[in-house]
Amino acid sequence: MLKINNLTAAYGGIEALKGVSLEANEGEIVAVLGANGAGKSTLLKCISSMMKPTGGTIEFMGKPVSTKPHEVVASGLVQVPEARQIFAKLTVEENLRIGCCQRNDTAEIAKDFERVYTLFPRLQERKKQYGGLLSGGEQQMLAIGRGMMARPKLLMFDEPSLGLAPIIVNQIFEIIQTINKEGTTIMLIEQNANKALKICDRAYIMSVGNVVKSGTRDELLADPTLTEAYLG
Ligand code: ATP
Repeated sequence: MLKINNLTAAYGGIEALKGVSLEANEGEIVAVLGANGAGKSTLLKCISSMMKPTGGTIEFMGKPVSTKPHEVVASGLVQVPEARQIFAKLTVEENLRIGCCQRNDTAEIAKDFERVYTLFPRLQERKKQYGGLLSGGEQQMLAIGRGMMARPKLLMFDEPSLGLAPIIVNQIFEIIQTINKEGTTIMLIEQNANKALKICDRAYIMSVGNVVKSGTRDELLADPTLTEAYLG
């Protein structure tokens, strides 16, 4: 579904991606793991066309991704950003409406509101509240809901566990699995390798701009070098 080949990217003279190749197949949860500064967020920025790669290719559903972020979203490749980045001064409902601002299929949009509110009853209870007044966990739910309102084929999460209490992280990871079971392919960018490996089908491990290991969840969990380096 998503095929990235030999991707390079840089901030000025600093090479943040040094030839990354990876794939996400339809229906799976693929995790991209690695420590701070490994290049995970840069990879997502390139996929979403918010940053221009210096080399390599990114194909989605057999075609090169657009260089325009709104066209990338319209093609079904949608990102739930790091640190939520919801609109604090808009209500929950307005935030969700922004997720579907490129769509005009009114009846289907109404169904998607229902779907989001069923998955996140807290959001329904608070639909008239400002996003900025929600708790961290609720803001994460809102960011996920907003992503779902774009009807993604592939939903990419940038560190969904960041800054959240363990009990909330568990809820968020369960929700990610539910969204996947309902038919959306997931790419999960995480530093929390223990948690991500529990729910993914396959994972890639990044370190300083490179993919240094990849495999199925069971292969990676059985790898003693990986356990030592990343899983503590
Ligand atoms: P984190 O989990 O901390 O976000 P990451 O794996 O997502 O880490 P990136 O944020 O992609 O890593 O960073 C990769 C490299 O690019 C790092 O060396 C980082 O310092 C550098 N970098 C990231 N953003 C910028 C920027 N805006 N300007 C300059 N260098 C940057």
